Order: sequence, then structure tokens, then C-alpha cells
Amino acid sequence: MAYLAADCTSIGYTEPITMSDIQVVKEATAIEDVIGQRVSLTRSGNYLRGLCPFHSEKSPSFFVSPQMQRFKCFGCAAAGDVFEFLQRYEGLTFYEVLQTLAETAGIELQKTSASPADQQRERVREILNLAKEYYHFLLTKHEVGKPAREYLQERGITQESIKIFQLGYAMSSWDGLIKFLHDKKKYQISELVAAGLVVENQQKRQYDRFRERIIFPLNDYRGRVVGFSGRVLDPTIKTAKYINSPETELYHKSQLLYGLSELYQEIRKKESVIVVEGEFDVISSAQAHVNNIVAIKGSALTAEHARIISRTVSKVILALDADSAGIEATKRAIPICTQAGLELRVISVSEGKDPDDLARKHPDEWRKAAEQSLSVYAYLLKVALSQHDAATPEGQRHIIDELAPVFNHITHAVEKEFYIKELAKALGVKESLVRSDITQFGVAKKSLGAVAKKDGAAKPRSRREHLERYLWHVWLASTAGQRMQFWTELQPLEMTTPELQQLRTQLEKNPSFGNDSWSQSLPSDMQQYVFDLLFDPTLTAGIDPTTDTADEWRKTLMALKKATAQDRIVAITAELDTLDEQEERTPDQDARQQALLEEIVRLRQKS
Ligand SMILES: [Zn+2]
Repeated sequence: MAYLAADCTSIGYTEPITMSDIQVVKEATAIEDVIGQRVSLTRSGNYLRGLCPFHSEKSPSFFVSPQMQRFKCFGCAAAGDVFEFLQRYEGLTFYEVLQTLAETAGIELQKTSASPADQQRERVREILNLAKEYYHFLLTKHEVGKPAREYLQERGITQESIKIFQLGYAMSSWDGLIKFLHDKKKYQISELVAAGLVVENQQKRQYDRFRERIIFPLNDYRGRVVGFSGRVLDPTIKTAKYINSPETELYHKSQLLYGLSELYQEIRKKESVIVVEGEFDVISSAQAHVNNIVAIKGSALTAEHARIISRTVSKVILALDADSAGIEATKRAIPICTQAGLELRVISVSEGKDPDDLARKHPDEWRKAAEQSLSVYAYLLKVALSQHDAATPEGQRHIIDELAPVFNHITHAVEKEFYIKELAKALGVKESLVRSDITQFGVAKKSLGAVAKKDGAAKPRSRREHLERYLWHVWLASTAGQRMQFWTELQPLEMTTPELQQLRTQLEKNPSFGNDSWSQSLPSDMQQYVFDLLFDPTLTAGIDPTTDTADEWRKTLMALKKATAQDRIVAITAELDTLDEQEERTPDQDARQQALLEEIVRLRQKS
């Protein structure tokens, strides 16, 4: 049996001339190719299946249908067409997806398809690119860049690094960049403000944000510059050591991984990524040949970071500051990494030393540290034991209080058991004691979770609703010829599920399900509903490629008719009971009673 089988080879668009850009691009694009380049998919009959890129899972619940040109994950409910997939997966706007797909398909877009907001965004990108080139030019070619060149040389930053990371220099001037981008390149000041490059003060005076600083262009993971970070040359100057672009439409601190686009190939090759806090840490480390490394802005790994990382590698190695803030950030990264399906490890850098220092002064030591990362649990155990005295009852209590919530996160039973043993050994107490402390913590958390879940639960479906959905599922899974044939039986049925009623109304308008692309003439939400119905695992469980669809159809149709009749009998009985309770009945009520009794006999004969 085939899913929406291709009985008809001619898939023609019925609309002649007025195909919009979107339709043309959609026509020229195969969702299975676009997703297949990013997610590993396995073909099964007429659909493809794989592990969902939007949540962490071990068995595949992510479906792609070439016939319907849609995807859906039955684990996290992510769903849509190729546009929605790329918007979400690549973090692009609708227009950017349109551009990307058009480019791939060799289609030239009409100018009108970009909205004013899209055009604005494009201009901001141009501005950021020009600014990057301007700063890079000042650093590498201009005489004002001399002190910056000397500074970088002193720090051991090579010419190669300056080129790879496109480092730059902002000169000591209030309007150097304004002169270049506004006076010369004719961009409006408001656009420079929107790009985060120019600041407007309360007196409405505008000036360059970055002045007399080394400039690090901040790229998104596709290598497009989205913002900048600037570092002072002279550390004695009484101003912030680093300043960054503000949040703009393109720059989001919580998503930025410095170095990812530049070092992508190395990261991919080493199948893991080291996460540090500063730009210089990344560059120095890469120069010391530890080049699977990125920096986060700020000290916390976010869920967005984890999601982006998880597309490329499955292991994250944190090398944050060894102070209390860094340790807290490491703890908070545990649930984030678990959620994204990432293994979390830690490079233990001694307090007061940062990766940049180590990589520059003792590259061998840094390489060794990078190779000898610890599991996050072993690291936190080590930290707790160094901070508290395991020989005193107070110290033991502190250690348990700190580690119980952490160890309780461990999802693998064997691993959890291992750390319980380690902890008990370190404290010199019985394993059962440690286990009960950790379990107690877990019980308190679980009961909270259970309450939350109950509130959000959907109303259970009745048997009749189940049968309705299953019948439609069988119908959808049938061949085109069967669908035409079964439709005469399906169409007159009474549906209790509102979505199915709507679907029927839609199909009555245009009953042309004889070809492959029939579902694409439905409204978008209906298309999604049909997709869900076709691939919902609770429904597909009953049907597999060896099932005789015609037989399944007949059985289900009969069961549904019976269930409908039984529902009706229940309703009639209730109405008869009400009538019986009347002491005096009108002639109309008598007639009604008679009619109901006759109906009930008919129904009982049929079912
Ligand atoms: Zn999912």
C-alpha cells in the first residue's frame, strides 16, 4: 500500500500566468532534498523519517512527505512546509528563505517580493559588511592602525589570525565611521543606528559606538557579520574593557558563538566544541592548534547556543572561569545540554588563569588540559571537595546539598550509580545514605512536575472520535482510485470532530483527490491537519504496508457506523426518559415518542 500513491503522473498547476514568486520557488523546490541535506532521513514507503532536529530524541518521530511537501515531528509538534523548516532551522526570515531557495533553483525574484522590512534588513547587512571592511582596512593598511598592529603583535596574534577572524581597528575619532558610511556611502544615520554602529545621545548628537578599539566582527554561524565587539588597547584607560553591539534585529547575544563559522571545519572534524568566554581565548587557542573552540558572549551557555551546537557536534566542553560565577554557569549548562542531547564536559582551568594566557604562554599545558576534560559531574565533585571539608559533618552537608540536585539530573542509571559511589567514597559514608539524599531531592521535584502535567492535559478522545480519525487516516493512506471510490461512503457520514467536518466541507468544494498534489490546494492549516492525520503514530500503528486497505476501510466504516448508532441510541433513550417523566403529554409529544421508538428499533436492527 502506498501513501498518497502517485497514480497520476501529471501534476499540473491550474493557475496559469499569475504564479507568485513564492509559488514558483515552492514548485521548484523539493522539501525532501532541503531537509535531507540537513537531517539524516530514511525512506519508508512514500515518506521519509528521521531524528527531529528541533528536539532531542532517540527514536525518529520526524516525518517528511514529498507528496505533501510538508514535515511534522510527533515528538515536539514542529511542523510546516519548506519555508517554515528553513526559517526555524536556519534562523532566517521568510524573505531570506525565499532568496536562498530561489538562488538554488536559479530563479530570479521580482523586486516586489521583498517587503520594506526585508529591504531594510538587507541594507543593515550591507552596512555591517562595509563597516567590517573599513575597520579591517584601518588595522591592516592605514597608518592610524599602527598602535593596534603593535598591540596585536605583542599579544602574539598572527597575520593569519587577523585575516581569518577579519580583525579590525576603530580609530580614536567620534565620527570616523559616520564619515565613511554616511558622508561617502550615503547611508542614513538612522540606518547606522539600527545597525548598532552609531549611538545617539539625549541631545540627539550622533557618534561612533566603537572608538580606539580592536574590533572583532561577530558572525552568525553562516559567516555573516551581525555585530562587533571592541576591546581597548590600553588596559589602564578608565572605560569598559570590552563593548559590544547592542541587540539589533540581526545581533542576538544569546545566539552568538564567536569562531563557529571561522573554525567550523575543525569543530566538525573533532566532533566536539570547547566553549570559552573571550575572543582572544578563541584566537590564541586556535593558534596553539586547539581549534575546535568558540566563545559565548557573557558567561552563560543558552538553550539557543546548545541548539546551534547540537547540529554539528554532540559534545560540549566548557572552559569557563573557575570562579563561583563560572561554576554556577557550568551547573546551569547541565539541563540545557541534556535537553539538546549534548554530552557536557569541563576543562578544569586553575583559578586566575584563562585559556588565552595558557594557550599563549604554555601551549602544551593548554593542549593537555583540552585533551583531559572531565565529565561535568566529576568536575563538580572535584570542585565541591576542594571547597568544603569532607571530614566534618558540616562540610559533608554542604557537599551533599550542592551535588544532590546536580547528580539527580543524570539520566543514565549506570552513570548515576557511578557518581553516587564516588561521592560516598569521597565522604566516607554509606552509599545508601547518599542515594537516599539524592532520591529525596528527585521525589520533591517529580511531584511538582506531575501536578503541572495534569493541568495541561487535553480532554481524552471518545471511541467514536478515534474511529472517525482512523477512518480518515485509512482514506488518506489509500490509493487515489480507492479514495475516489470510498469518498461516496465517507462524504455522507456524520462527524463529531469539528476539524473533520471542516475538511469534508473543503473537499466537497474541490473533490479532485485523483492526483498526487491534491492536498496542496487546501488551506495551509488544513494541509497540516491532513498531514497529522496521515502520519500520527497512534493511527499508523494500526496500518502498515501489508494491510489490505479496502478491508481495513470496510471494517472501520462498519465500526464507526455502529458507534454512531450507539451514540444515537443513548441520546434517544435520554430523550425518551424525559418524555416518560411528563405526567401529561401533548399530542406532539406522543408523536415524538412514537418516532423515537421506531428509530431505536431501526438502529438496533442495523447495529
Ligand atoms: Zn521534534
